[in-house]
Amino acid sequence: MDRTLISATRDHVGHEVRLCGWIHATRRMGKMVFIDLRDVSGLVQAVFLPDNKPLLEQAQSLRPEFVVEVVGQVNERPKKLVNKEMLTGTVEIQAHALKVLAESKTPPFEIVETEKEEVGEEVRYRYRYLDLRRAHNRDRILRRSRAIKFIRDYLHERGFVEIETPILAKSTPEGARDYLVPSRQYEGKFYALPQSPQQYKQMLMVAGFDKYFQIAPCFRDEDARGDRAPDQFYQLDLEMSFIEQADILDLTEKLFTAMVQAVFPEKHMTFGTWPRISYDEAMKKYSTDKPDLRKDKNDPNELAFCFIVDWPLFEPEMEDGHYAPAHHIFTAPRTEDIPLLDSDPSQARSWQHDLALNGYEVGGGSIRITDPQLQEKVLGLVGISQSEAREQFGHMLEAFQYGVPPHGGIAPGIDRMLMVLLNAPNVREVVAFPKTGDNREPMTGSPSSVSEQQLKDLHIQLRRK
Ligand code: ASP
Repeated sequence: MDRTLISATRDHVGHEVRLCGWIHATRRMGKMVFIDLRDVSGLVQAVFLPDNKPLLEQAQSLRPEFVVEVVGQVNERPKKLVNKEMLTGTVEIQAHALKVLAESKTPPFEIVETEKEEVGEEVRYRYRYLDLRRAHNRDRILRRSRAIKFIRDYLHERGFVEIETPILAKSTPEGARDYLVPSRQYEGKFYALPQSPQQYKQMLMVAGFDKYFQIAPCFRDEDARGDRAPDQFYQLDLEMSFIEQADILDLTEKLFTAMVQAVFPEKHMTFGTWPRISYDEAMKKYSTDKPDLRKDKNDPNELAFCFIVDWPLFEPEMEDGHYAPAHHIFTAPRTEDIPLLDSDPSQARSWQHDLALNGYEVGGGSIRITDPQLQEKVLGLVGISQSEAREQFGHMLEAFQYGVPPHGGIAPGIDRMLMVLLNAPNVREVVAFPKTGDNREPMTGSPSSVSEQQLKDLHIQLRRK
């Protein structure tokens, strides 16, 4: 007999089904045993009647989190016994056979969600596989999967090509601290985990792919905050050729509007057309470059997306006598402001765009520099000398000499956006296996020590304190 998913039992009234899952709860009532059976799709009640004694005895030995297979008939519940809280509350399984597939120790915390105090993060993450059995955690991961699928389908249907880029990449000064990976074959050399696929996606435009996207893991060695994971996070990284800034913003707006409607139908948007606010106006009116434009800040389902545009090319404060890019070094200045790079770079505006949602920055991007000389000039202004530029970005400067299309893109942050869409308390709660706030993974115990031999292979000697 094929296995039926619990959520589908409603469609099989009067028929025999085979269900597989975990014992969520058991109750004895008189001579009967009731169980709530749980699988990835939901919960259903099954009943063991006294007429089959051996089966009833078997059912009496069931304990929470045992893995079982139950064969039984789906019966409609009498009207007064319908459970409106349960998706399958109109039916009940009358069990005919039971097989215990695995027993379970008593879990360190309850899987059934109770009003009781929340278990600490350390214990939840140590037993994350149990934590994920709890409905609200499981549902976040399931919704995340649907959101990602929606994004993928939407972009594929519009001619985007999905391309993976290297995880072992090169260390470049992109703003944050790099995670480094020592090379075994090249003593003293290192790979870096990419802070974003920025350079690769630009190279894909030079290569002629026209429209690229990737659900890209990005690694930045930064301290955790509520809205920032300490290790890695995912961006919807995308790039397009032969477009203008408005095309990127339009696509982003349409994509996420459709995604919210399809996957988060309980949400509503403050603005049907997302406002595009200049950086100056945002700072003047709201004193922030990621304003929270919700009409009712207490409404958990309101979403106020907006774009911030017309950014200055450089941060107002200089760093060590150099300019710091407001976005990154590949962002194009406005054509009319290029002369300002010689006279007063701080006044130059750029083609940067940021996406804000309910007071969070959930994405950024820009139209890119494609003129190698202009690129060298911007690198110079941020304090990267010509020889450093050739060493670190030579591949880009060179590629731009072989016919580079005008291009630009954006990279909305998946985790941060989902945190808002799922009303999660922090970004950690929207990923399957998060690190703790202090950057450890209690389940596997990473980071961990490695053997002397592994270090030796990598030409590494630890400095003993
Ligand atoms: N790579 C950029 C970032 O991570 C996004 C972009 O410019 O497309 O912020």
